[in-house]
Amino acid sequence: MSEISKEYDFKQVEEKWIGAWDESIYYFDWNSSAPQYIIDTPPPYPTGNFHIGNALNWCYIDFVARYKRMRGYNVMFPQGWDCHGLPTEVKVEEIHGITKNMVPREEFRRLCEELTARNIAKMRVTMRRLGFSNDWSNEYVTMTPEYYSKTQRSFVQMYDKGMIYREDHPVNWCPRCGTAIAFAEVEYDARTTTLNYLQFSSPLGDILIATSRPELLAACVAVAVHPEDEDNRKYIGTEVAVPVFDYNVPVIADEVVDPAFGTGVVMICTFGDKQDVRWWVEHHLPLRQVIDREGRMTEAAGKFAGMKISECKDAIIDEMRSKGIIKKEEPLDQNVGLCWRCKTPIEILSERQWFVKINSAEIVETSSEIRWVPDHMETRLLNWTGTMDWDWCISRQRIFATPIPVWYCKSCAEPLVAKEEWLPLDPNLTGPPISCPACGSDDFEPETDVLDTWMDSSISVLNVTGWLGPHKPRYPAQLRPQGHDIIRTWAFYTILRAKALVGTRPWDSILVNGMVLGEDGHKMSKSLNNFIAPEEVVAKYGADAFRQWAAVGGSPGSDVMFRWKDVISGGRFLQKIWSMYRFSAPHAVRSDDSAPNQVDRWLLFELSQMIEAVTGSMDRFAFDEAFRAIRSFAWEIFADNYIELVKSRLYGPDGPEKRAAQSTIYAALEALTALLAPFTPFIAEEIKQSLSGESVHAASWPEPLGLEAQPQGLLIKEVASAVRRYKSDRGMALNSPLAGIEVYTYLVLETADLSGSTGSPVAVKRGQPDIETRAAEVKPSMKVIGPAFKERSGGIIGKLKGMDPEEVARMAKAGRIEVDLGGEVVELPPNAVEIATETLSSGRAVDMISLEGATVLIRTGP
Ligand SMILES: [Zn+2]
Ligand SMILES: [Zn+2]
Repeated sequence: MSEISKEYDFKQVEEKWIGAWDESIYYFDWNSSAPQYIIDTPPPYPTGNFHIGNALNWCYIDFVARYKRMRGYNVMFPQGWDCHGLPTEVKVEEIHGITKNMVPREEFRRLCEELTARNIAKMRVTMRRLGFSNDWSNEYVTMTPEYYSKTQRSFVQMYDKGMIYREDHPVNWCPRCGTAIAFAEVEYDARTTTLNYLQFSSPLGDILIATSRPELLAACVAVAVHPEDEDNRKYIGTEVAVPVFDYNVPVIADEVVDPAFGTGVVMICTFGDKQDVRWWVEHHLPLRQVIDREGRMTEAAGKFAGMKISECKDAIIDEMRSKGIIKKEEPLDQNVGLCWRCKTPIEILSERQWFVKINSAEIVETSSEIRWVPDHMETRLLNWTGTMDWDWCISRQRIFATPIPVWYCKSCAEPLVAKEEWLPLDPNLTGPPISCPACGSDDFEPETDVLDTWMDSSISVLNVTGWLGPHKPRYPAQLRPQGHDIIRTWAFYTILRAKALVGTRPWDSILVNGMVLGEDGHKMSKSLNNFIAPEEVVAKYGADAFRQWAAVGGSPGSDVMFRWKDVISGGRFLQKIWSMYRFSAPHAVRSDDSAPNQVDRWLLFELSQMIEAVTGSMDRFAFDEAFRAIRSFAWEIFADNYIELVKSRLYGPDGPEKRAAQSTIYAALEALTALLAPFTPFIAEEIKQSLSGESVHAASWPEPLGLEAQPQGLLIKEVASAVRRYKSDRGMALNSPLAGIEVYTYLVLETADLSGSTGSPVAVKRGQPDIETRAAEVKPSMKVIGPAFKERSGGIIGKLKGMDPEEVARMAKAGRIEVDLGGEVVELPPNAVEIATETLSSGRAVDMISLEGATVLIRTGP
């Protein structure tokens, strides 16, 4: 064995193994009959930066994947890339100084694909550097025809089953992104706006209507009051005139109107909010769409046409103020819906869009078949299910996305949905191979809308389990790891799609991780200057230290604060492990001819207990618990106690006793490297390879040894560490010999290791020691004597010191101490002295240490 360096060089070790590892040992075996463990890894958006939140999530996944492999599972830890979407389109426009409409559709798509491929390559480098055991034979990229043909086929299958339809329907619309978005993509933010009281004229007398959206005045299609509203119900069934635009709308009755809000009269517009949509449907009201797809006023807004929404609002308010139509203005706190990507307030527009039907009851039922970790996260899904006012809008008005495989007949307008065997295709580039089934025409117009990217990613689990692939499909997967921020999107849509397409739950378990917070406790962001890149941490302390932060930073589900001190202490632990290995490597020898003593058996019992505990924690995804148990065994039990106890045997003459210590060290090192392998794969590999020449990542997870508790060995360890403390409290060198140690206990202890590690003769005696305590020294208290006796204090103290300590102790116990100053006797209170005692055993002075199950006497005199 070559010389082992004193300092652990993480950089050299980690980079060596990244270059040397054979990644094919992580490949899933489609032909294996071993139990499968398929992980539905989140496909990250290829921004080019594998950020710390990803890194935390991937650490969890890697802990599980490596653990399960060692437990004998046929593990798939695939890696996907969720490519499509607006951020890449925007980036491409920025890089090339173009807008998407300046170049042909396919050229724009090609630029997006190029950028995405470059970004994926960068992120792969970071993932390898962090030591993740991805199965790169199961990598998928959603922008490739192999993947999006599955997205398209899923669309066709659901269309054929009647689960997808196209309809004119109000949808959430982001005017900045110029696309429809789903409810799950709407965020709400509290804002203060103004409530304006507008005067509408009526033959029964003018009425005031309060609204925060006067720019929608031209979209007003009715006015509503509560049927039991004393003040306003007389208007029901009449018509009122809309100010500025001067047309009449009906006054209707509806129980939902809150008579206490504003004046109790509301204006129904198409559409100010979701409630407007409900009223519009229930009362069969007409449509007056005043906002277009770019967020400008339409012709229906009359002279305001062409203005942006905010310009129109200002102009209308100015006009109404000058005409005296606004009677009152007051502040109003409101929740405003925003586009989750660009934070622009959304509008509700009526558009012809594609929708996926949502069956809430089925989602709730399927969710109950899934084990949620932590379980309270399921509430987020259940709370979300059923809150949507309409189905999942899946069409988007973008370019870089999966094309919707549909054409429309130009003569009869019937849609023609592609057959599965025609896919993949882009209807903008390819026409249908058949004529219109309805009218026989060959003149088609392509669907230019594309699919919501969640349509791609919500079949990730079907893709990795082999749906529509060459192998027998293996759904459901065993695990979905994901962040809690995408429960209402990714988790929800995946459950919906798996049930719709293959009729089963997508996974057995879902493991939800929290977000990473900066050291200041806030969500990490570049603008808050609390942003840390994984590469920075790895450069300073290595991947194994970074991964320890992920393990101990918090339990899965809770938000985890990034703390340098966790990484630094991770680095320290690596050095500790390294020093332990460096010391024990020459002594780690497997032997069949050994005689384990009480200390060896105790260590093996502790090891076995730890293996059992760690295995249980890993099964519950309690990585923090598991790692702490390994660390405390390695550090406190093995390095600080066991190795200290057996050193004299290791350096002693060869024989079964020495070989037992060597063998125990081998067993502990072997188990420790295996247990550390999921958490710190680099150092574990370095140690295992130099011990046995084999990869720890091909090793099995250690089994508990099934040993009985070893109270004798445990007591020997307690005595040895008590003696160590005793020496260090007295400033003695730890190897300095003591005159003698007697251990009184009812257990039968072997003394060799105790004697060797304390450097002192050790005798073990049965039962309790025969102890007597006697007063050894009188220590007068100046604090008590000084103030009472002033200048006589000196004489009193001198006298006290000369008296028989036993006599002084007897008087103190009786309540007063008499001191003869030569003629005069003074009385002192008991607290005027402190009596130091000494302990004697068989007439010899000793120090006594009481432990649970034993009394230890240390001879202090001859
Ligand atoms: Zn937007
Ligand atoms: Zn036709």
